[in-house]
Amino acid sequence: MGKFILALDQGTTSSRAILFERSGAIKAVAQEEFAQLFPQPGWVEHDAAEIWRSQLAVAQKVLKDHGVAAADIAAIGITNQRETTVVWDRQTGEPVAHAIVWQDRRTAGLCDALRAQGKAALIQQKTGLVVDAYFSGTKLAWLLDNVPGVRPRAERGELAFGTIDSWLIYNLCGAHVTDTSNASRTMLFNIHTLRWDEELLTLLNIPAALLPQVAASSGTVGHTRPELLGAALPIAGIAGDQQAATFGQACLSPGMAKNTYGTGCFMLMNTGKQAVASRNNLLTTVGWSFDSGLQTDYMLEGSVFMGGATIQWLRDGLGIIKTAPEVEALAMSVTDTGGVVFVPAFTGLGAPYWDAYARGAIVGMTRGTTRAHIARAALESIAYQTVDVLEAMHKDSAIAIKELRVDGGAARNDLLMQFQADMLGVPVVRPSVTETTALGAAYLAGLATGFWSSTEEISTQWRIERRFEPAMPAQQAKHHLQLWRKAVERARSLEN
Ligand code: ADP
Repeated sequence: MGKFILALDQGTTSSRAILFERSGAIKAVAQEEFAQLFPQPGWVEHDAAEIWRSQLAVAQKVLKDHGVAAADIAAIGITNQRETTVVWDRQTGEPVAHAIVWQDRRTAGLCDALRAQGKAALIQQKTGLVVDAYFSGTKLAWLLDNVPGVRPRAERGELAFGTIDSWLIYNLCGAHVTDTSNASRTMLFNIHTLRWDEELLTLLNIPAALLPQVAASSGTVGHTRPELLGAALPIAGIAGDQQAATFGQACLSPGMAKNTYGTGCFMLMNTGKQAVASRNNLLTTVGWSFDSGLQTDYMLEGSVFMGGATIQWLRDGLGIIKTAPEVEALAMSVTDTGGVVFVPAFTGLGAPYWDAYARGAIVGMTRGTTRAHIARAALESIAYQTVDVLEAMHKDSAIAIKELRVDGGAARNDLLMQFQADMLGVPVVRPSVTETTALGAAYLAGLATGFWSSTEEISTQWRIERRFEPAMPAQQAKHHLQLWRKAVERARSLEN
């Protein structure tokens, strides 16, 4: 058997290929950025052909640069930016239009119309999702209704729809498949029956002939065309990026949770075999499923819009730091925020507030307030928002987490991680391998092919780099949260 698993990590701004060793350590990485297209305000597109070209190029490069032969690869795992929508011709492989990226808001009006028709409850019950332009379903409907000739071709069965995982797999091996985690982000997939939902397809007027077959996240779906990488390699793992990161963090049993501190924060909590319906506007989603034993794990998911982006604003908007990592020393130069609370509601507030009209606020300033206090308050705001999402998860699931596993750029900030532990009252744990997204895809592929023997083996591979224990007295933490919630009220409905 091969010595490595090759993970293809197709993200929003770059395509990456990472080779993992059996120990879970990284052997090598190759990465290439690609163009972001903004044809109109609120629209975001990618050239699907460029995504495929860049993904293949980095896969070839990581092998070549490190002298790794195809025979050394046991299997391929794929993880991808979620929800991004591609439609292509089954014969020629040509996309009919640019891919519509998850961030694209062009179908917000269509989503308003679905809500006005009273369809939100039905959609949430079947898909676990809140009706939103974010998900693939309305993007696909838009392509069918707006790209000339697409609907009749789709009805004749000439076209294929897929998220980025499907698009890459089609190009790698010719199969038209997706996995349950990616399917659960389309707003067309019933997460309870694990099938495409006819009622939703009718509602959005989508021909079933477009849809990929839904496979397990861990299981072989095909073998790569030999001329691409030098051998026919099994494609054996598929998961959307956040689900893959949760797997890579070995959050494999109910009550385990991870938070990724990137531009925004993405928190997922494993709820096991139970798909927990949210009453707090969180999403219910498939985590992953296995070919063997038909095992599917569900998650609750919540996101924070302004995570690391708050620190970007300190850098680019306010100009008080030159680089994001500088924020830590600046914030540490004072012992506390001096009463300042920063509510980074620049684009409204997500769970549990769901206030699109909230706007950013910095309250509690005095003549003694300096940029250091504001920097510290900005960091604290990331932790407060995370507490809010976790509390919503707790309310929905009645599961109390024992620790929070963390990754992403801003998770490198020790001050933020300590404050996070203080506010949550549970340990915050940072792993030694922080490439959790690619690692999760590798694990799913390696489990399917016997490269790794069991999820137990994976759990024991997961290594702590640093553990942050809650150190602040509970009463003091509670006071902090009370001030935060008061400040949030001041920032609410400002534009309405
Ligand atoms: P993404 O995948 O969303 O691009 P990353 O995981 O690469 O995000 O993290 C980048 C984000 O982390 C940026 O928003 C940046 O401001 C923030 N960031 C990076 N380093 C630090 C740090 N030391 N402290 C706080 N925030 C940081």
